[in-house]
Amino acid sequence: TEVAPVLEARSLSAGYRRVPCVREVSLDVRPGEIVVVLGPNGAGKTTTLLTLSGALPSLGGEVHLRGEPTDAALHHRVRGGLGIIPEERSVISRLSVRDNLRIGPGPVERALDLFPELRPLLRRRAGLLSGGEQQMLSTARALAAEPSVLLADELSLGLAPKIVTRLMQALRSAADRGAGVLLVEQHARQALAIADRAYILRRGSVVWSGSADEARANLQEIEGAYLGHE
Ligand code: ATP
Repeated sequence: TEVAPVLEARSLSAGYRRVPCVREVSLDVRPGEIVVVLGPNGAGKTTTLLTLSGALPSLGGEVHLRGEPTDAALHHRVRGGLGIIPEERSVISRLSVRDNLRIGPGPVERALDLFPELRPLLRRRAGLLSGGEQQMLSTARALAAEPSVLLADELSLGLAPKIVTRLMQALRSAADRGAGVLLVEQHARQALAIADRAYILRRGSVVWSGSADEARANLQEIEGAYLGHE
C-alpha cells in the first residue's frame, strides 16, 4: 500500500492580483522522498511554492498538509511541520550566525550538528558570509526544526558545485530521516541526481511528471520539449 502524502496540491491555482499564473496544478510529496519541480523562467515554480507555504493565497483548489486541507497562514503551517528555505536565503545580515539560528524554528545545537561548518562562524555577522555559507545557514535553520515537509526554492542558484553537493546531501539525509522534500530548481541535472520524482511546469501547468530515473534517462528529449526558452 502507498504511504499517504505529507503535502498535496489539488487543482491548485495561484497568482497575483487575482490573475492566475498557476492553473490547476496537482502534485504530491510523500514522506522520505525528494520531489523536484522543474521549468523554465516564469513557469510558476516560485508562485506554486509560495502558495503551498501559505505565503500567497490560492485562487482555487486545495493544499493538503499531512492529510488535512489547510488555508492557514504561513506561520501556522510552520508550526504544523512545514519548513521553508526561501529563494532569497533570508538570513538577517546584521545579526550573527548564532542569532540567526536562535530565531529559527529549531534548536541551535541541532542546526550545528547538521552543518558543523557553521561552528567557527557563529559570531560572524550573517551579511559577511559567502553566498554558500548563507545558504548553509538558511538550510541548517530550516532543518533544525525537523520539518515533516521541506520546501526549498532554487537552493543552488549561483553557488559553487561543491556547496551545492553539500546542500543536496543535507536534503537527502532529511528525506532519509522521513521528511518529504519539495525542491524547485531551474537546473535539471543536479536536482534530478538526488530526486526521486519530478514535475515539469510550463506556463503554469504541469506538462510532465514521472520518476527521476525516467527524467534522467530522457533528459535531452525533456529539455528539448519542455525546458527550453519560450
Ligand atoms: P523563476 O525561475 O524565474 O523564478 P518561476 O517559474 O519561479 O520563474 P514565478 O516566479 O512563479 O516563476 O512567476 C510566474 C509568473 O508570475 C511570471 O509571469 C512572473 O512574472 C509573475 N510574477 C511573479 N511574481 C510576481 C509578483 N509579485 N507580482 C506580479 N506578478 C508576478
